[in-house]
Amino acid sequence: MTLVIKCRPDDFVVWKDALQACGLRHEIRHWSDPGPPDDVRYAFVWAPEPGGLARFPKLEVIFSLAIGVEHIFSDPQLPDRPVVRLVAPETTARMAEYVTLSALFIQRGWYRFVRPQKDQLRWSYYSDRLASEVKVGLLGLGEVGRACAGMLKAAGFQVNGWSRTPKNIEGVGTFTGKAELPAFLASTDILACVLPLTAETTNIIDAQLLGALPRGSSIISAGRGQHVDEPALLDALDSGHLESAVLDVFRQEPLAPEHVFWSHPRIFMTPHCAGLATYAERARSLAANIDRYENGEPLLHVADRAAGY
Ligand code: NAP
Repeated sequence: MTLVIKCRPDDFVVWKDALQACGLRHEIRHWSDPGPPDDVRYAFVWAPEPGGLARFPKLEVIFSLAIGVEHIFSDPQLPDRPVVRLVAPETTARMAEYVTLSALFIQRGWYRFVRPQKDQLRWSYYSDRLASEVKVGLLGLGEVGRACAGMLKAAGFQVNGWSRTPKNIEGVGTFTGKAELPAFLASTDILACVLPLTAETTNIIDAQLLGALPRGSSIISAGRGQHVDEPALLDALDSGHLESAVLDVFRQEPLAPEHVFWSHPRIFMTPHCAGLATYAERARSLAANIDRYENGEPLLHVADRAAGY
């Protein structure tokens, strides 16, 4: 019984060691050298090439190497098997830290100090608001969004969230679907995107959405780069409608050296590291889910193929 992993070749030994340390006794092989196709029961993958998973006729479960699954659902020959998201508690905690830290960074206006420090300029002072006076709006109230909401509330922010289906979360104002998006945006000072990437959410942060935010608001983008229409973001910043942006994810990663984002004075960037958890923690989540499956219990975090996440 083989678990095949599609990851960078230099990551393979690290994953193998981490999974074996969790007690996984299966044969573990790299995608490029899977052994007999009939032996492969599980695939643990990042961005498998189209048709790659269909090579394994006895494949039972497809595990994503990340929380997101858009890199698997894009395969037109995807076998009809459960696709499972890798939801490690450390990932959601780290995403909550990232979004809360970014919200505080924006609320205290610290992006204004980045360039003066780099260029050894004098500081200018400005007044900012208390977190309790600032409304953070979360696009997405799933595993990540709910973890963010908890930490943002603890930091003192007012928190609202938007999702596809109705939610009831104590202390969080909730908005549902396209019909309630304008009201959600109108009551947002800092918009944090933690949506999955689907056909419906691609380019969701476009000129229309940015225009519906109050003047002087800011955004945090930590879902996927394809959520953001980059020219629209630049226009909104340069016109003064948007105050600042904290970006962890980009349409093209790594970001091209000549990209205009690098030198923008009101963009602060990180290299898609918002939710990065240790191999050990992610291996524990995968191994625990395989254990559940083999003990006849339902798999956790199975993605919904129709919804795309
Ligand atoms: P999740 O549990 O599946 O939750 C997704 C949320 O988005 C749900 O609240 C869902 O609504 C909402 N949603 C989806 N499509 C929507 C639409 N068309 N309109 C309105 N709401 C919609 O996902 P998660 O575990 O929170 O992860 C979210 C994403 O975070 C991942 O897919 C990944 O892209 C990103 N992520 C990034 C990093 C990083 O390092 N930057 C790390 C981890 C995750 P319902 O609740 O109604 O279903």
